[in-house]
Parts: sequence; structure tokens; C-alpha cells
Amino acid sequence: MDEKTLKQTDIAVYKAIQSETRREMDHLVMIASENYASRAVIEAQANVMTNKYAEGYPAARYYGGCEFVDEVEEIAIKRAKDLFKVEYVNVQPHSGSQANMAVYMSFLSPGDVILGMNLAHGGHLSHGSSVSFSGMLYKGISYGLNSRTQLIDYDQINDLVKMHKPKMIIAGASAYPRQIDFNLFHEIAHSNGAYLMVDMAHIAGLIAANLHPSPVGKADFITSTTHKTLRGPRGGLILARKEFGPRLNKGIFPGIQGGPLMHIIAAKAVSFKEAMTQDFIDYQVQVIKNAKVLADELMRLGFDLISGGTDNHLLLVDLSKMAITGQEAEHALEQVAIVANKNSIPFDKRGPRVTSGLRLGTPALTTRGMKEPEMKIIASIIKGVIKDPGNQIELARARNKVLEICESYPIYQSLMYDKKENIQ
Ligand code: PLP
Repeated sequence: MDEKTLKQTDIAVYKAIQSETRREMDHLVMIASENYASRAVIEAQANVMTNKYAEGYPAARYYGGCEFVDEVEEIAIKRAKDLFKVEYVNVQPHSGSQANMAVYMSFLSPGDVILGMNLAHGGHLSHGSSVSFSGMLYKGISYGLNSRTQLIDYDQINDLVKMHKPKMIIAGASAYPRQIDFNLFHEIAHSNGAYLMVDMAHIAGLIAANLHPSPVGKADFITSTTHKTLRGPRGGLILARKEFGPRLNKGIFPGIQGGPLMHIIAAKAVSFKEAMTQDFIDYQVQVIKNAKVLADELMRLGFDLISGGTDNHLLLVDLSKMAITGQEAEHALEQVAIVANKNSIPFDKRGPRVTSGLRLGTPALTTRGMKEPEMKIIASIIKGVIKDPGNQIELARARNKVLEICESYPIYQSLMYDKKENIQ
């Protein structure tokens, strides 16, 4: 058998991975949905369980030789149940969108009405958008933010529920900086005979650390990704009451997936163990503190934020009154090695490719150990870049400052295969 290393086998892919490792070291990652998984999580993903077919579930597989992958999946399930205090867990969804799809396929019929958050107000594609399977297979209706408070408009949700009688209401967002009231969602869904699905992808880590109210006991189904604030490998997760377990299991396999990615499930198990530690709770506390300081500092420097601040790990800068679009801001920040993303803001006059917003998150910076003082420095760098994106001298100065910060908070030293090999 060929036991050559990656570098010996495929120098092109090796170099790209090496360069990506360096990019992640040398940039300030402020994409709210990204994080740095631990070395242990990354190691667990790169293992021989990628070889194993394991269609089915532990002790009920359609393939032989599953005793050790069973062990790993059972550990992952048990840990996720303990972490989120929930009766049923499925760790097999390949991604957050797959988790959502499995819930819909298990409990809806094509053409049923679903009510989710408007993409332009912070919702996710898989919550009923017309360009996603969710809006193609089901009739997607959307709720949004109140134009004055810029908070979720629960009165509007009530009205839309009465008007459209959705079979499922979806709570959860990709760009909402405030806490979501799962009690209110539960009341609305319950009193109108609709299922409630909470997609907690963005805030799963905060929920695991008890820093955001949990949807457990409020939602019929809870879906998540495992790679955002939860800081695990790229993947999905479903939680529910025990009674829904058999249908959800069938929804994932054979419903929408074949063999589970057992190496990823191994890494999910590791990340759930990490999420049960005091260190993880301290980390999430700091994620929120950092977001608040970043928000306050940006507002002090003259920026408007959607809803006037944040309660969680992200903030949404409203650039509509400034002479720069979201797209231009993203590009200018990239030049100084700050990676963030343009984002539509509620009632945005610009299209989704241009936008008037910038989404910023603190999960990755906080994993590197950055705290309040760094947030203040980063806010002032962002201000300098966005207010004067054409000033090359300022940009060069800002880039150097960013590099200095990155060097003070190193990451993934042990994952650089060959430190001397400076492939850019
Ligand atoms: N749900 C929410 C709220 C998200 O923000 C995202 C991704 O950003 C997803 C689902 C989809 O996850 P994935 O990219 O793993 O399909």
C-alpha cells in the first residue's frame, strides 16, 4: 500500500493547505460563522474512520465491522445529550443545511407552508429562501425585524401565522445580534398548531455554556452546525424529544443521506467533550464581552449598528449612511488582513452582492486569546480603513498592526508541517 506522505504524493494540495494554515495565522478572522477548531478536533477528523461505511445507526448498521465507529457515534450522542440536556440527538447530518433538510423531510410534505426569518433581515437560505431547496420544495413565507427597534418583530410573526397557517415556524438566524425569545416562539407555534424548529447554528456554543436561553423544551426540533461558536468540525446536528427520534433518524438515513462521515463524527465527539469544560464556558463569556466592547467602541467611533449593539457573538454594522458599500468595506478590510463579510441589512436598498452592511464576529479572535484591549485596537483599525479605504499609507500601517496582533496571539503553530517552508 502507498504510505507516502501528503507532501510526497500531492505537492499542490500540500502547498494549498500550508498556505491556508498561514493565512489563518496571519489574518484576523472576523467572520461570525467561523472559528478555529482545536488541534485535537482537527486530528480526530484526519483518521481512518473516513474509510468506513456505516449506514444505519449504532448496533443497527447495514455493514459489518462497525464496532469501533459505533463506539465513537455512541460517545458523540451521549456527550451531546449531556451538553444540551436533551433526550434525542442525531450526529450524522453532514452540514447545517442537511440537518434542516432532514427535519423538513421528516415532518413536512412538499408544498407545506414554512415561516422563517427573511434572508435580508438575518435569516438563513435554508429557512425558506426561493433560491434554496427549502423555498423550492416548500412555500416559504418570511418574517423580519421591526423597522424602528431592529429587533425580531414578534407581532408580525403572529399576524403572518394567522394569515398563512404555516406547518412549521423556524427561529434562528445567521446575522442577528440579539437574543432570540424562544418562549415567545413556542407560544406562537403552540397556540397555532405549528411545529417549532430552532436552528441554533450560530449560537450553539453560547447555549452550551448557558449564556443564551436554550431552545430545549421550547422547540420541537433543534438543528445546528458544529463548527461556529461550538468550535467543532464542519458538520450538522439535530436535537429533539425522544418521541421524534425514529422519524428524524429515518429522515437523515435513508431519507437524505447515505453513509455517515464517521471521522467527522469522531471530531464532533471531541468538540462536545471540550464544550463541557470550564475553559469553554470562560471562552464563551469572553466571546460575548469582546463583541460588546467591539460594538461599543465602533459606535463611539461613529458607526451605526443594527439594533444599537449586541447580546451575542456578532454585530452588524450599518454602512448605509457612509460613503462605502458592504462589498467595498469587505474588500478594504481584506487588504489589511481582516477577514469579514458584507451582509444585507434590514430594508437594504442595495442588492445582496453589494449590500450596506458588514457582519463582524468575535469567536475566532477570542479563541486566539484576544480580549477587550485588542477589540479596541481592532475597532480603531476598522475605522481607519473604512473611513479612508484609498489611503495606501494608512492601509500599510494597518496591515502591519494586524500582523503584530496576529504574532502576539499565535495559532496552529503545531499544524505548520514545515515552518521553514514559507509558502505564500
Ligand atoms: N443555519 C444557520 C443559522 C446558518 O447560519 C448556517 C450557515 O451559516 C447554516 C444553517 C448552514 O450550515 P452549513 O453551511 O453547514 O450548511
